[in-house]
Amino acid sequence: MIPTSFDYQRASSLDDALAKMAAAGGEGKLLAGGHSLVPLMKLRLSEPKVLIDIARIPGLSGVREKAGRIEIGAGTTHAEAASSSLLREKCPMLADAAGEIGDPQVRNRGTLGGSLAHADPSADYPAAMLALDAEIHVKGPKGWRVVKAGDFFRDLFTVDLATDELIAGVQFTPVKTAAYAKLRQRASHFAIVGVAATLDVAQGTIRSARVGLTGASTHALRLSSVERALAGKPASAKTIEEAAREAGAGIETINSDIHASEDYRRAMIPVFTRRALAGALARA
Ligand SMILES: Cc1cc2nc3c(=O)[nH]c(=O)nc-3n(C[C@H](O)[C@H](O)[C@H](O)COP(=O)(O)OP(=O)(O)OC[C@H]3O[C@@H](n4cnc5c(N)ncnc54)[C@H](O)[C@@H]3O)c2cc1C
Repeated sequence: MIPTSFDYQRASSLDDALAKMAAAGGEGKLLAGGHSLVPLMKLRLSEPKVLIDIARIPGLSGVREKAGRIEIGAGTTHAEAASSSLLREKCPMLADAAGEIGDPQVRNRGTLGGSLAHADPSADYPAAMLALDAEIHVKGPKGWRVVKAGDFFRDLFTVDLATDELIAGVQFTPVKTAAYAKLRQRASHFAIVGVAATLDVAQGTIRSARVGLTGASTHALRLSSVERALAGKPASAKTIEEAAREAGAGIETINSDIHASEDYRRAMIPVFTRRALAGALARA
C-alpha cells in the first residue's frame, strides 16, 4: 500500500523538532527509524500531514555514563545499544535485549525512543526499562518531564506522552545482575513472552528484585508477586523455581493472537521468568 501524501521536514535540534510539531498543528508525526511508523502509514492507520525527521539530531543518540547512571539518547539504534561496550560492561541485560530485537535491518534503523513511544505490546525494551526502573526524559512545549517506566506504559500502544512531546532519552542505575529471556516470534522476533529481571544480591541473599514482562498483555508490566516472593530469600535455584511458578497468575488480560493462544502465553510466563531470573543470578 502507498501512504497518503505528506511533507517531510528534518529537525536540527530538540527545540526545532518541537517547533515543527507545533507548526504542524496536530497533523505532524516524529519520524525516527520509521520501522513502526512507516508500516502504519502504508496501511493508512496513520496519516500524518507532516513527517518531522529526528534521526539526525546531534546528540540524540549514544550511550553515556553520568555520575554512576547510564543515559541513552532516544535516537540510539538497537544495534548501537547492542554493541555498546559501556552497556556490555555495566548492564549486559540491556545490550542482550537490544541485540534480540528484530533482524539486522530493524536493529540498524529502529531506535530506543521510537520503540518506547510506539509501545508495541510485544516490544522488548519496555520490559527492560521496567526491570531497570528507568526514568524516561520527555521534552515538550512546557519544558522537561521525567516519567518513571512504571508510570509510562499505560495500555495498548498507549504511553504517558502527549502528542506535542518527545522522548529525549532514558536514565537508569545500571544493574549487572540482570538478564532478559524471550520466546520470540519466528519471523519478526517480537516477544511472545519476554521477561527482564534484575536482582540485588548480597551475601547469598536476594535483597530485592524487579521483573518486567512484555508480550503477554496489552502493555509491559511488573511481575510484583514474583518480586515479593524473591525478596529476602536465599539466592538459589530453588528460590527462583518457587518464585517463578505462579508468574503471571494475577494478570487479567493476556493476548491471544495468530502467534499464540492465551493459554500458551500463560504457560510460558513462568518458564521465561525462571530463565530470566536464573540468567540474572548467574551474573551475581
Ligand atoms: C520486521 C520488524 C521486526 C521487528 N521486531 C521487533 C522485535 O523483535 N522487538 C522489538 O522490540 N521491536 C521490533 N520491531 C519494532 C522496531 O523495534 C521499531 O524500530 C520500533 O518499534 C520503533 O522505532 P523507530 O525508531 O523505528 O520508530 P518510528 O517508526 O520512527 O516511530 C514510531 C512511533 O514513535 C514516535 N517516535 C519516534 N521517536 C520518538 C521520540 N524520540 N519521541 C517521541 N515519539 C517518538 C513516532 O512518531 C511514531 O509514532 C520490529 C519492526 C519490524 C519492522
